[in-house]
Amino acid sequence: MPNEIAGRPTLAQEPYWWDERDRGADQPLPAGPFDVVVIGSGYTGLCAALRLAQAGTSVLVVEAGHLGEGGSTRNGGMVSGTLKVSHPSLTKAFGKQRADAIFFEAQNSVLFLEKLIADNQIDCSYKRHGMYFAAYAPGHYDDLAREAEQLHALGVETRMVPRRDQQGELNSQIYHGGRITSFAGGLHPARYHAGLVRACRKAGVSFTTRCRVTKLEKHGVGHVLCTTKGRVMADRVVVATNAYTDGGLGWFRRRVIPIGSYIIATEALDPGRLKALIPGERMIQDTKRNLYYYRLSPDGTRMIFGGRTSFRPISVVESARRLRSSMAEVFPDLRGVGVTHSWTGNVAFTFDSLPHLGARDGIHYALGCCGQGVALMSHFGNCIAQEMLGVGERSSFAFNQIKTVPGYTGNPWFVPILGEYYRFRDWLERPANS
Ligand SMILES: Cc1cc2nc3c(=O)[nH]c(=O)nc-3n(C[C@H](O)[C@H](O)[C@H](O)COP(=O)(O)OP(=O)(O)OC[C@H]3O[C@@H](n4cnc5c(N)ncnc54)[C@H](O)[C@@H]3O)c2cc1C
Repeated sequence: MPNEIAGRPTLAQEPYWWDERDRGADQPLPAGPFDVVVIGSGYTGLCAALRLAQAGTSVLVVEAGHLGEGGSTRNGGMVSGTLKVSHPSLTKAFGKQRADAIFFEAQNSVLFLEKLIADNQIDCSYKRHGMYFAAYAPGHYDDLAREAEQLHALGVETRMVPRRDQQGELNSQIYHGGRITSFAGGLHPARYHAGLVRACRKAGVSFTTRCRVTKLEKHGVGHVLCTTKGRVMADRVVVATNAYTDGGLGWFRRRVIPIGSYIIATEALDPGRLKALIPGERMIQDTKRNLYYYRLSPDGTRMIFGGRTSFRPISVVESARRLRSSMAEVFPDLRGVGVTHSWTGNVAFTFDSLPHLGARDGIHYALGCCGQGVALMSHFGNCIAQEMLGVGERSSFAFNQIKTVPGYTGNPWFVPILGEYYRFRDWLERPANS
C-alpha cells in the first residue's frame, strides 16, 4: 500500500515487535480432559499455566488467535508497578492497611517479573531504566510533586526534575518538568512473551491456537469448554482474556471496558541522535488525560511512540499520521523521519480503574490491567495458579468481585464521548504560551 508516512513503499500495519514473536504452530484441539484449561495466551495465561504445570498440573492453553495475539505482543514494553488509582484514593476507598497491601503488591510485581526473567533466562532486553512522568502543564508538575511527597512517606524512591534541569532526562521543550521513578524498566514485549511460551512448553503445557472458546458449561464438578475446534473438558478454568474478552465469556465481558491504544515505530535512526532526546533511555509517560507514552527501542535505533490517538476506531494508517505529528510536536528534531510500523491494541479498563482477580464457580480470572499489565498481569497469572494450588499468600487484589454497571454489555459506546471530554480538559489545562 502507498505510504506517504514513511516515504517507503509499505507501512507494516503490525507491531514492530512481531518480527521476534513466537506465534505458535496451528495444533488440533487435544482430546483432554485437563486439570486446567487456560483461555488466552498473554502474560496472564502463560504465567498461570507455567506455575501450574511446574507443580505437576495438566494444562491446556486455548488461544483465539496466534499465541500472544492480544495486548502481550502489542504493548509498549514499559515495566512499572504503578496503578491508575493513587495511594490516597486507595486509602479513602479501602482504609490504610488494605491500601498499603494493594500498593506494595503492585509495586513488587516488578520484582516478580525480574525473577521470572532471570529464572527462565528470558532474553528480552529487560533493563531497569526507570520511568519519567513528564508534566504537560505547570499545574501537573505541582500534582507530581505532591505525589512525590506521598511516595516518599511510603518509602518509595522518586525524584522531581524541574523544567530547567529536564534536558538531562528528556530533550523536549513542551513539558514543565517531571518526576522520575527508578523502580521501573523496559523490555521487548514479544521476546518476553516468546520466553514465557518456551518455559511453558518445557514445563509440559499444551497449546492450541486459532481456537476460540464460544461457551463455558458446568459439567458435574468440572467444565466443558465449547470451542471453534470442538469440545474439551477441564476440572478448572482460567479466564485470561483481558481487553479481548468476547461474547462467549459474557459475564466477564460485561466487566471490562476495552479502549484502543496506538503505537508507531520510526525507521532506524542514528542511536546517538535518539539518545540525545532521551539521555537516560527511561520510559516516558506524560500527564495528559489522552496521554503520550514513548521510549527508545531496545537496540536504541528507533523511537517507539504511543498514545490514545483516537477513542473511535481508526485505521493504523491514520493513527500513524496523527502519532507522527504528535511525535514531531514533542521532538521537533524527529519531524520528517519515516515510520515503518503502526499498530493498535486494546487496553482493559474497569469501572473502578483497578485490576481484579478472583474466582466464580470454579472459574478463576484476572482482568483489567488499565494499561499497566506487563509486570502486574504476569504476577496475577502466578497468583491465580498459587490460589488454585493452595500455596502462597492470597493476593490483596482478590478481595472483592469485579463490578459492572446496569445495562453494560461489553460495548463501550460511551468511550468516544469520554475521550472528547478528556481532549477538552487537556486543551483547557495547556498554558497558552506553550
Ligand atoms: C497498545 C498497548 C500498549 C500497552 N503498553 C503497555 C506498557 O507499556 N506497559 C504495561 O505494563 N502495559 C501495557 N499495556 C497493557 C498490557 O499489554 C496488558 O496488560 C497485558 O498484555 C495483558 O495481558 P493478558 O495476558 O491479561 O491479556 P492479552 O495479552 O490481551 O491476552 C488475552 C488473550 O485472550 C485471547 N482470547 C480472548 N477471548 C478468547 C476466547 N473466547 N477464546 C480464546 N482466546 C481468547 C485473545 O486472543 C488474547 O490473545 C499495553 C496494551 C496495549 C494494547
